[in-house]
Amino acid sequence: MPPRRPRRPLPPRRFPQRNAAPRHVHPLLLRANRLFSDGKYYDAAKLYEKLAVGAYDRHLPRAPMLFMQAGKSLLIAGKVEKGIALAQRGLGLLADQKRWRELYQFGRRSVNVLNELGYKEQATGLEEWLKALLPEDQEVVMGKEQLTKEEMRVFPVSCPACGARVHPDEVKVIDKVTVECSFCGGLIRSK
Ligand SMILES: [Zn+2]
Repeated sequence: MPPRRPRRPLPPRRFPQRNAAPRHVHPLLLRANRLFSDGKYYDAAKLYEKLAVGAYDRHLPRAPMLFMQAGKSLLIAGKVEKGIALAQRGLGLLADQKRWRELYQFGRRSVNVLNELGYKEQATGLEEWLKALLPEDQEVVMGKEQLTKEEMRVFPVSCPACGARVHPDEVKVIDKVTVECSFCGGLIRSK
């Protein structure tokens, strides 16, 4: 058995750790998630967009998700056109990066959000737009595992690190007991 504690302090981490929630969650993200939970969708959207642009500039993999979250917040706030534009910006980034599984997953989620909000025509439009982007080969698209709603019940309702809600279509599955928050990159373990 290795000793439980290292003899001298570990050097600072050079790479983001994948096994734990990041120590530092962007304060804007915390604020955005809080505004979102408080129903202040328009204000939340502005922060999500700012975070998305920052993440995009730094080539972070979560940039598309932040654009989509900004879009979703605007849709709920009733700003349909700009909301769809931001969601498409996020989805388009996923397509540019050939992240097909996520494009399928988050695209379906965006279509569902539009339908739930009663924007049926726009939902159909987005669905068509997605179909044109996605490869026809389902195996290319569905390469990665996804959990069912039932299996998602073991996870907390919100990310312990940043407070974003944990929705089955908005997380990256690591294994049956671990998913990754799409907004802060923290790992969320089953309860
Ligand atoms: Zn998070």
